[in-house]
Amino acid sequence: MKHLLALCVSLALGFAALPAQAEEAAPLKIVTSFSILADMAKNVAGSRASITSLVGPDADAHVFEPGPADVAMLAEADILIINGLGFEPWLVRLAASAKSKAKFVTASYGVKPIELEEAHHHHGHSHGHGHGHDKDGHPTVPHDFDPHAWQDLRNGIIYVRNIADALAEKDPANATLYLANAESYITELKKLHEWARAEIGRLPKEKRKVITTHDAFAYFSKAYGVEFLSPAGIGTASDPSAEALARLVDQMRRENIRAIFMENMGNPRMMETIARETGIENGGTLYSDALSAPGGPAPTYVAMFRYNVPVLIEAMQKN
Ligand code: ZN
Repeated sequence: MKHLLALCVSLALGFAALPAQAEEAAPLKIVTSFSILADMAKNVAGSRASITSLVGPDADAHVFEPGPADVAMLAEADILIINGLGFEPWLVRLAASAKSKAKFVTASYGVKPIELEEAHHHHGHSHGHGHGHDKDGHPTVPHDFDPHAWQDLRNGIIYVRNIADALAEKDPANATLYLANAESYITELKKLHEWARAEIGRLPKEKRKVITTHDAFAYFSKAYGVEFLSPAGIGTASDPSAEALARLVDQMRRENIRAIFMENMGNPRMMETIARETGIENGGTLYSDALSAPGGPAPTYVAMFRYNVPVLIEAMQKN
């Protein structure tokens, strides 16, 4: 109620102070690098922005190749929101060719990043360097950090605050609205974090092991106490070696791991191979680096956790 009142007052003052033709200011044009950021921005901006994502639902940001339409979209943007932490190695070239004047927001700013060595060490075996070179053999931006920070909801809250601050700064007339939207969204994310911890916490520790396509869940692992094993490493650009696959299959047999998952934006081939080798049925699809399309099971950041957590638990119960 207090929030609403403050909002009405500030809106009234805002309108009074503006010349008549500025009352219906054009909504902010926000471009995000991938779908999860677009959903966060939508929760903050409400109807006050038009939001588009360069990498869409079920698509893989690791290996994205921008086209002319993306350049045009970025040239028009008021705000560009990216993940950072080396997730968008294609973005520097894209922003330069678009001559973008957009306000640049790194959503992960302030997150405590997991270093790649640390993430790899955590899994107890080494991974390939999926991002060393792009498909034309040019060296790509080195991955110093694991970029998948959004898989810890507490980091998601940092993302939302950064997005809200940037919107408020770019469009001060609606700052109160953006910050109020962000606060109610953050309240929802905090509850979701506690729920995820409690749900997974009920499972015996020795059962909390999962095989996935690529290393997208190191932050989830730290936050919610699930061990993720992946033969592919952090990127999706290269296939794992036969040796890495064999080692993983051995470990699955030794530790009786039966929870194996595909990811919505990844190549299912590798997990199909593992399923065949071990005779274990696939646990389904996890949403890691992209949301589903609107009609799918994980069309929002919140829905992604609401979907992933029970699906993980069901599969881990069979370990
Ligand atoms: Zn990824």
